Amino acid sequence: MAEDAARRDLVLYGRRLYEKGFVAATDGNLSARLAEGGFLATPTGLPKGELAEGLMARLDSEGRPASGKPSSEWPMHLAIYRARPDVGAVVHAHPPFATALACAGRGLDGAVLSEVIISLGTVPLAPFALPSTEGLAERVASSLGDHSAVLLANHGAVTVGPDVRSAYYRMETLEQASRIQLYADLLGGGRPLPEQAVQALRGLGEGYALAPLPCPACEGCPVAAGEPGAVVLRRDELARLLAEFARGHGRR
Ligand code: 13P
Ligand code: ZN
Repeated sequence: MAEDAARRDLVLYGRRLYEKGFVAATDGNLSARLAEGGFLATPTGLPKGELAEGLMARLDSEGRPASGKPSSEWPMHLAIYRARPDVGAVVHAHPPFATALACAGRGLDGAVLSEVIISLGTVPLAPFALPSTEGLAERVASSLGDHSAVLLANHGAVTVGPDVRSAYYRMETLEQASRIQLYADLLGGGRPLPEQAVQALRGLGEGYALAPLPCPACEGCPVAAGEPGAVVLRRDELARLLAEFARGHGRR
């Protein structure tokens, strides 16, 4: 993700985790892999309802802190980024229903709920390890495997995605599914879908993908309007062009 967008989304979806009751006090943490290299992570000990763009910790491309003090769970985030080059963002929270399942030693692996099969897939359970340790990092990354979400025994949940928004909504889906699972259990247990239906639901996945948000800059944008000669430049490309121009005119 571009750094500006990552800072904005870490604040937006971090606050949303707090507002939805998926975290209390200082629980939870979020991070994003940056397109320009390195990572941003929420700072340790800060309630997610109090996040601000300037408070994020910055990490270099090896995962070493470059500025600010990252979440105590940064080793877990980094282990996931190392194992999964496709992952652009990691969200960790303690949502009550998902965490209840994790405390009961259960993942979310029954083929019961259509929405889970379509958009989340099965959710394994990572065995318990002490929060913030390398042991937890290893167990979570290996239990996550190629999945989009994992429950952390006696602790909480982690979701991943190409960006912060996708990872956040997977956390919402996971919590909703865990809640429904619990209610179904109270009613005598969910009835598993037949294998044929499970396969058909998996095939629907693409059609149910999270739609991208329209670019906020599009209104009045000459590129979006298709004006001839209009181009899009990233900030670093513009800086390079300006530097080249200055060099060409004898200024350094
Ligand atoms: P941090 O405040 O260090 O991010 O820790 C919160 C948490 O959820 C630990 O598991
Ligand atoms: Zn935690």
